[in-house]
Amino acid sequence: MMDQRKSEPGEGISLGKKTLHDVPCPVCKGNISGVMVEEDSILKAQRVPVIIPAKCKKGHAVILFVDRAFTVRDVEAAGTAEQEQEKKGAADKAKSWMESF
Ligand SMILES: [Zn+2]
Repeated sequence: MMDQRKSEPGEGISLGKKTLHDVPCPVCKGNISGVMVEEDSILKAQRVPVIIPAKCKKGHAVILFVDRAFTVRDVEAAGTAEQEQEKKGAADKAKSWMESF
């Protein structure tokens, strides 16, 4: 048997993690909720805001900018930046996106 631990929603604090407050997705305006970050990754970051990758419920990749108080200062869609970086790989993705439209 695998080690089965009860994971209770809203109780990530003891693990040294924090759940960020809801932020709107810049693409679809839907809520991005329940994003968890390790406290150390924020508190020990050399620069703030810290960039946290996340996804909305519809799967849009976004980047959260989080300050030391674990407040989300800004949200940006990550898709556009990534597309620029990997245009070759994006061609196939674009096809499947088109089909889903
Ligand atoms: Zn979205």
